Amino acid sequence: MPFLTYPAALELQKELSGTNAEVITLADDDYVESLDRWSATSEKEAVCVSPPHQSIHSLLSPMQEHRLTYADTTMLIKGAIVKVTTVEEVSTVVEFAAKRYIPFAVLSGGHSTKGASSTYGGIVIDLGRMNRVDVRTSSKTVSVEGGAKWADVDTAAAKHGLAVVGPTVSQLGVGGTTLGGGIGWLTGKYGLVVDNLVEAQIVLADGSITTASESESPDLFWAIRGAGQDFGVITRFTFKAHPQENDVFAGMLYLDPDKLPQLVDYVNNLDSKLDEDEGLFFGFINSHGKTTIVVILFYNGPQAQAEKMFEPLLSLSTDREKTGMMPYYKTNQLFNKAAASEGRKRLSGTSVTLPLDIDFFQAVYQNFSQILNDHSEDAEALLFFEMLPYTKVVEVPNDATAYANRGPYYNVCSIFNWQDPKADSKIRNLQQGLMTQIRDEHIKRRGPGVGTYANYTGFDANARDLFGDNLPRLKELKKHFDPRNVFRKWHDLLLQTGASV
Ligand SMILES: Cc1cc2nc3c(=O)[nH]c(=O)nc-3n(C[C@H](O)[C@H](O)[C@H](O)COP(=O)(O)OP(=O)(O)OC[C@H]3O[C@@H](n4cnc5c(N)ncnc54)[C@H](O)[C@@H]3O)c2cc1C
Repeated sequence: MPFLTYPAALELQKELSGTNAEVITLADDDYVESLDRWSATSEKEAVCVSPPHQSIHSLLSPMQEHRLTYADTTMLIKGAIVKVTTVEEVSTVVEFAAKRYIPFAVLSGGHSTKGASSTYGGIVIDLGRMNRVDVRTSSKTVSVEGGAKWADVDTAAAKHGLAVVGPTVSQLGVGGTTLGGGIGWLTGKYGLVVDNLVEAQIVLADGSITTASESESPDLFWAIRGAGQDFGVITRFTFKAHPQENDVFAGMLYLDPDKLPQLVDYVNNLDSKLDEDEGLFFGFINSHGKTTIVVILFYNGPQAQAEKMFEPLLSLSTDREKTGMMPYYKTNQLFNKAAASEGRKRLSGTSVTLPLDIDFFQAVYQNFSQILNDHSEDAEALLFFEMLPYTKVVEVPNDATAYANRGPYYNVCSIFNWQDPKADSKIRNLQQGLMTQIRDEHIKRRGPGVGTYANYTGFDANARDLFGDNLPRLKELKKHFDPRNVFRKWHDLLLQTGASV
């Protein structure tokens, strides 16, 4: 696989001259910060080395030289980050890379923990400067550039008394979240993020620019709603917006471990009554070896009603004053700070069908606590069972979009956070063991839907696990739109067996 040589980087720079795109290589001061990702496991140098033509010492600052520890610095720099500002610039870079077989990655919010938005020695197409959001009140739609964060969307829509279905953490990129499906507090009422996508502007594998919607290129539109990362660079999304004039009830409660049976009773009972305006995450957080039960409440309605509904939980906690009314967009900021911790991270997901068996839930709690107690020096973690009503999601058949995870169950998500790169495989195994324990329970009662949310899985699932019966159609479309598989860094659709790369 050829990489981007330094002369080729200069050539790319030339092709982009007269535009606002910025090509950054190891020789540039902002190179190091351009590699930053949410998880240090995903920070890959967009450089590599080749046979010597000249010494690169003259090009490097001391900091850059220090970073090039893994290679012989007499060799020539390759690789680049391109900060793009328009769809035409994206098109130029994709065409340039594809023609020369240079691997590239697309970066939006940078939250992939498997490094899907980073590359060694290739090109990173950094969409961060393409973050414009236009709210169209007349059509109740919001048009969003491919590198925007959800915070940009939430706040822009709120100014007009509107909201767009988005994730519960607003620092995420719109690009990655949307293309894999997208779930959040408004999912109960309006479905997935992709169910609210009206149109997308896309740069395809050959650099051509196209639009996909129900009426224009409907096959492509089908594919990008669940597997979009594999089909192109989406440079603009148009979403439905919904009225959101009222504040919502939200907040986080901590419960002592002895309240676990009451919590299980409550959620089992809630399962049959959950209405579309509600949402509840519950699970465990472990920090410095101490495990706490956590419950996150959401209700899109009046405080009195919310408190009546959540009273059995509120009365179990000593910090009910941490819940209250707030503008919708603020609920998606509640965890931004916690989610911004430093170091290496790994996201993993599975599903759970309710009612929960108390012994099973106790066993998961014990397992989680044990793992974290044994490794309190290395790791912190959270594990959430995400009760977002699925009625709206399952109204859409599994074959109506590429997203195949529609079923009468809830997502489960865990995030592990550690510092030492040497602990990578140990943490991976521990986290996978925990998630397998939950998945095995889900499989016993499995109904429709694959039971695996692609945006929550790293290397743990292959394309068959993620797309089920939709995979053959996806593969056919992939061969049509991206025959050389240039978009393969997320979950590789054409990989025959084993986990994705
Ligand atoms: C703390 C945390 C909380 C989360 N909470 C939620 C949640 O509430 N709901 C939910 O649904 N998910 C949630 N997720 C999962 C999240 O949806 C995925 O991590 C998603 O991939 C993040 O997208 P990103 O743009 O930030 O990441 P990136 O790493 O930038 O991108 C992820 C993938 O998408 C590709 N990509 C990004 N933008 C584009 C684009 N415009 N065109 C083509 N490809 C693109 C990248 O190349 C990469 O393959 C959460 C993740 C984390 C880490």
